[in-house]
Amino acid sequence: MATNFTGGCMCGAVRYECNANAIFMRNCHCRDFQKASGSPYEAAIGIPAPALKITGNVKYHDSKADSGNTLSRGFCPECGSRLFGKTTAATDLAMITAASLDDPSLYRPQMDIYISSAQPWDHMNPALPKFAKMPL
Ligand SMILES: [Zn+2]
Repeated sequence: MATNFTGGCMCGAVRYECNANAIFMRNCHCRDFQKASGSPYEAAIGIPAPALKITGNVKYHDSKADSGNTLSRGFCPECGSRLFGKTTAATDLAMITAASLDDPSLYRPQMDIYISSAQPWDHMNPALPKFAKMPL
């Protein structure tokens, strides 16, 4: 099977590959992602969880999403790079951070979500659909 995405953390201790196409690519501007990423938004790629193969030790931090589901953000415990996401809302879904790709130019954002908490200094592409919170 072809490999669609490869990537890893800054120090190289964690690597991943994904052999499926993206389900979605979206910029999330929620406060939790801002805090977790240290940046105005997180560029996230949704993929089928079974298609993601991870090597190396990943640590997950759990938080409650607006929906009440648990969102787990995975990072490299050595260098702290944010890499993965998973949610109890959809256990067959995995998320990878676009900036952790070996070739981040593969990222093609389709929408901006949680723009209700977007920062005024965060310039968004006006051509992309915008959602105050999650898309309906
Ligand atoms: Zn690392």
